[in-house]
Amino acid sequence: MFKKDFTYFENSDIVYLDNAATTQKPKSVVASQVEYYEKYCANTHRSNFGDANKATQNYENARKVLKEFINAKNKEEIIFTKGVTESINFIASSYAKDFKTIIISSLEHHSNIVPWHLQGRSLGKGLEVVKYNKNLDFDIEHFEELLKENPKSFVSITHISNAFGKIHNIKEIISLAHKYEAVVMIDGAQSLAHTRVDMQDLDVDFFAISGHKTFAPTGVGAIYIKEKYLKSVKAYQTGGATIDQVDFNSSTLLDAPYKFEAGTQNIAGIIGFGEALEYLNHVGYENIELIEKDVFNYLNQELEKLPNIIFYNDISDSIGSRSFNFEGLIHDDIGILVDKMKIALRVGHHCAQPIMKDLNIKGTIRVSISFYNDYSDVDKLIVALKRALKMLEN
Ligand code: PMP
Repeated sequence: MFKKDFTYFENSDIVYLDNAATTQKPKSVVASQVEYYEKYCANTHRSNFGDANKATQNYENARKVLKEFINAKNKEEIIFTKGVTESINFIASSYAKDFKTIIISSLEHHSNIVPWHLQGRSLGKGLEVVKYNKNLDFDIEHFEELLKENPKSFVSITHISNAFGKIHNIKEIISLAHKYEAVVMIDGAQSLAHTRVDMQDLDVDFFAISGHKTFAPTGVGAIYIKEKYLKSVKAYQTGGATIDQVDFNSSTLLDAPYKFEAGTQNIAGIIGFGEALEYLNHVGYENIELIEKDVFNYLNQELEKLPNIIFYNDISDSIGSRSFNFEGLIHDDIGILVDKMKIALRVGHHCAQPIMKDLNIKGTIRVSISFYNDYSDVDKLIVALKRALKMLEN
C-alpha cells in the first residue's frame, strides 16, 4: 500500500527484505536532496546570504522535527552525527571512557562492542555482558547482579537486535540501571523505523539514532544527550562551527549542540532526515505497527512450514527481523540462490559475531521487513526459498 511512495519500487522488481541493513527512501526525501543541490546549495551556520540562511533554517528545522519526534525536552539535546556507529564512538570516547565498568547485552552489534575494546576493555576487565535466557530473552536478574557488583557503571544496550529482531524492554532496563546510579545509552539503530520512542518517558541518558535505517539518506544519524549531560560530555572532535574564541594558545567552544557538530555536516542528508520523519508522521506509527505485525506473523507462519528450518527465538517480543537456518545447509548458499530469484535479504553474522559464536553458528538467513512490505513479498520469498531448498537437495 505504501510502495507507491517510493520510486525504488517503480524502478525495481526486487523483493526488498533487507530493511534492517537500510531502508528505501520515500520520494519526498529524494526530492529534498535534489532540491537542496539544485536550488539552494550553500553551507550552514556561516554565511549570511539568502541560500545560506535557507540551508541553515532547513537544517535547524530537521533538528526541531527530530526533537519533537522523539519527545526530547529541548532541541539542544539533539546532536547530528553520521549514524549510530559515530554516535556510540563519540559517547564512548568522550564520556564513557572514564567509567570503571561498561555493561552491554549479549545481542549487541559490533558498533557497541568494538569501541569498548579500543579502550582496552575485555570481558571481566572493564566490560561486562548480560546473559540471555532461552528465547534470547535479556536476563534481567543477571543484569541486576552486575549492577550491584558494579554500581555507577555505564550501561550501553541495544533496543532491538538487528540480528534476531529481539526487543529489549529498555524502560525496565533504564529504570533498574538508574536505581544503581548507572548512566544508560541505548543503541536505537533499529527503533525508529518500527516503533515510537519517547526520551522523556524512557528517562534515557543517551540514545543513538540511525537515519538511513529510518528512511533518510545514508551518512546521517543523531545522538540524543539528556540536558543534564550536555556540559559534562566533551567534544571529541573540533573545528569549524564549534568555536567561540580561538587564539594560538587556547580556544573556547560554543554551547551544545554546535560544539559537537564539527566541520561541514551532511547538510542535504540532515534535511532529508527531517523529511523522512515528516513522512513517518504522515504514515503514522499506528499504521506501521499494525501492518508490520500482520506481515511479520504471516512471514513467520509461512516460514514455519518449510522443512528443517531452525529458529533461535520465537516471535514474541520481536519486531522487524526474522533469523533462521536450514539444518545441514549453509546460509551463504541460500543467499546466493535467492539473490538470483530477485530476493534481497542478508545472510551472515549481521555484525553480531559474539552471539553467533555463542549459539555455535556462523550466521543466519535474515529477512527484515518494513511497513511497505506485504503478503506478496512473503509469498515470493517462500517460493524462492522452496526452489533453493530443492536445488540444494540434489
Ligand atoms: N547497531 C545496530 C543494532 C544496527 O543494526 C546497526 C546497523 N546495522 C548499527 C548499530 C550501526 O548503525 P549505523 O549504520 O547507523 O552506523
